[in-house]
Amino acid sequence: MAVARIFGKSSMEALQRETDRLAALERLDLLDTPRDEGFDRIVRLIKAVFAVDIGLVSLIDAHRQWYKACSGLSSDEVSREDTFCRHVVDREEPIVVTDATKDQRFSYHPAVTGETHIRFYAGVPLKTKEGHIIGTVCAIDRSPRSFGNRELAILEELAGAAMDRIELLQSAATDSLTEALTRRAFKQEADLFISLALRHQHDLSCIVLDIDHFKQVNDTYGHAAGDEVLKSVAATCKAALRAGDLFGRLGGEEFAIILPHVDREGAVAVAEKVRSAISSQPVCGDYGTLSVTASLGIAGLSIVSKDIETLLAQADAAMYQAKNRGRNRCVSWSTVQAEHTMGSRRRVLKAGSILFNDRRSTIDCTVKSLGIDSAGLSVSSSAGIPPEFVLSIKGEGFETNCQIIAQDRQNLEVVFR
Ligand code: GH3
Ligand code: MG
Ligand code: MG
Repeated sequence: MAVARIFGKSSMEALQRETDRLAALERLDLLDTPRDEGFDRIVRLIKAVFAVDIGLVSLIDAHRQWYKACSGLSSDEVSREDTFCRHVVDREEPIVVTDATKDQRFSYHPAVTGETHIRFYAGVPLKTKEGHIIGTVCAIDRSPRSFGNRELAILEELAGAAMDRIELLQSAATDSLTEALTRRAFKQEADLFISLALRHQHDLSCIVLDIDHFKQVNDTYGHAAGDEVLKSVAATCKAALRAGDLFGRLGGEEFAIILPHVDREGAVAVAEKVRSAISSQPVCGDYGTLSVTASLGIAGLSIVSKDIETLLAQADAAMYQAKNRGRNRCVSWSTVQAEHTMGSRRRVLKAGSILFNDRRSTIDCTVKSLGIDSAGLSVSSSAGIPPEFVLSIKGEGFETNCQIIAQDRQNLEVVFR
């Protein structure tokens, strides 16, 4: 009731709609998944059919717009605040801006006034069968343009094709580049392994692996070299594992392993074997010879961590510690937990705010994992966020003081104080 009084009825409805939308996005589990030729084809079609500079298929979470496919822009994502696409999601309908300089909503937008020089924008909602808007499909150009009903109908058909592709991908079991299990298939198999381990009281462990400084490989040697590195690392991992282990690709350069019948100490030894195999296996190609390393986090099945979301969240938090301690190393969740006296953690997807500077500064974030005394957060950029701040989860009345214990460019690991 108190919340309703503060926000008013219509903003309460908007908050509920946003919560439902994020829940739908979480169920699809698509954010940060690898590139896919099906979506790349859709953005190529957008550019060819409308003769525009930029085509996008994007997903919008609590703090950012992430490009599932993008042609004509160099970044993977932008902060969600103030994007053209946010208006499509908020209004739940297509938006066409023929000349942004003449549109009062956008004429002062940095993408219009700055060097990106956007003039034309047409965006339609990416809508699930249940009616939740999870993102947008757009055509964008650096010159003003007209866009009639026929063009809009074509763009809506392409958004339909993108949604069909999303649904089709839900059933794919392996990732085409690395032949690892897809994130969804990995989790389904892991759930089965976990229920067996619980029923028969077997050990089971989980490892999360993230390639170090992978962006540099792409930036220096190109995307094709990056893809070669991914393939090679996946092959090295598989060769180091047993046939009965599960190996999946969680996202771009992040993989996960389930080791049935292996306890935490055993898993640390396996992780060390995998780490050492990767660092001693150079990747060779036209670009020369690249040495690659990875950081690994380990978590074991226990009374408090007995589902895949919890295991992944803990192994992920441990992996960030490995990054912070210098990369090319393995860290177990149990040691992170002992150091910071933390309880267990679950993967979630919630909209949060980071407040600091006596609450005068606010940064939107996505809460990706949450426990009673710690959390994992994602931000557009961690630069400028102080070591201590207040975390608020919108719509839940949740607010607490936090201290950062590990961070990278876009992720923060925090304990509550
Ligand atoms: P860190 O050591 O902290 O992990 O740094 P990093 O550079 O590995 O991590 P970051 O998350 O900054 O960059 C990951 C990069 O992976 C960015 C993204 O463009 C790239 N990427 C994601 N998927 C693919 C893919 O399928 N192929 C290629 N070549 N690159 C990809
Ligand atoms: Mg990564
Ligand atoms: Mg990495």
